[in-house]
Amino acid sequence: NRRVVLASRPVGAPTPDTFRLEREPIPSLEDGQVLLRTVYLSLDPYMRGRISDAPSYAAPVEIDGLMVGGTVCRVQESRHPEYAAGDWVLGFAGWQDYAVSDGKGLSKLDATKMQPSWALGILGMPGFTAYMGLTDIGQPKAGETIVVAAASGAVGSVVGQVAKELGCHVVGIAGGSEKCDYVVETLGFDACLDHKEDDLPERLAAACPDGIDVYFENVGGKVFDAVLPLLNPKARIPLCGLIANYNATELPPGPDRMSVLTGALLKKRIRMQGFIVFDDYGHRYGEFLEAVGPWVAQGKLHYREDVIDGLENAGEGLTGMLEGRNFGKLVVRVGPD
Ligand code: NDP
Repeated sequence: NRRVVLASRPVGAPTPDTFRLEREPIPSLEDGQVLLRTVYLSLDPYMRGRISDAPSYAAPVEIDGLMVGGTVCRVQESRHPEYAAGDWVLGFAGWQDYAVSDGKGLSKLDATKMQPSWALGILGMPGFTAYMGLTDIGQPKAGETIVVAAASGAVGSVVGQVAKELGCHVVGIAGGSEKCDYVVETLGFDACLDHKEDDLPERLAAACPDGIDVYFENVGGKVFDAVLPLLNPKARIPLCGLIANYNATELPPGPDRMSVLTGALLKKRIRMQGFIVFDDYGHRYGEFLEAVGPWVAQGKLHYREDVIDGLENAGEGLTGMLEGRNFGKLVVRVGPD
């Protein structure tokens, strides 16, 4: 059994020394257990938080501990009454080939109805995040302007497409012309701006002639700086992620703009609310699947995966995601179907 453990806590971006690949015998089963073989491992930005020991909403991975992560697995062997060898399951087996489970936290997937790996993306945690953050906190109305960054990614792509379904004017922000073209031409956003080009504030103002009613925050940094002056009175900001800061080792250089932010929140009566999807909305997962599942089945929502081959490349994949090297939902193919 190959497994990737946390070798050291990175200062700044993760490096090859951050992770270590180990081998151990494949574990054996007791009654009531299943042996899972990982087919797909999800790579997600929250993993940068887990390899840090800064206080957060979840405990960090210990040094020498197995890296955590959502997985789509097949049951290799079962001594559990509800599972049979060959079943596809969604679980949280972490960065390894094999894991033993007592069935807690597993859910079966019907591979005849959907590509199983989609349970890690549009029909799983990132899609759920997009849907709840947008609809519950963003509360978009037809005709309003929605802006979302990391627009080609797992969360952003769903935010924008759902907002289009709800009749909004949708502007994405993404890194590079290839991602921007995809966001407009395939995902159907009204516009998409490249944050790597100059003059983002001016281009964003031109793309949002009626101001911004909902800013779905995935990124922070200079994208937020461009958004803030354009927010309309009573704008809503679902604060989902701040990926531009995840590798930061110190506060950004001054001047301190906190008073600009709080002044805008006050004068424009803006509502900005953070959320952690399963903590805050876990009880509404069924509602998400009922709303988004049919749109996916009807081909109304598009979905793009970026698949990395091999567990040994997972660490490099996570590092790349924090620099925008992924194009679509990042997953690792750990083993064959
Ligand atoms: P993505 O698939 O969007 O991949 C991350 C993307 O972030 C990159 O491709 C890149 O896109 C962008 N990015 C990376 N570094 C920077 C940077 N320094 N500046 C600007 N953009 C950057 O990831 P997800 O869709 O899985 O996650 C999106 C956000 O949602 C993250 O912030 C994540 O933490 C958050 N999240 C929050 C949850 C919650 O419960 N609150 C749950 C799930 C996700 P580009 O090249 O286009 O800039």
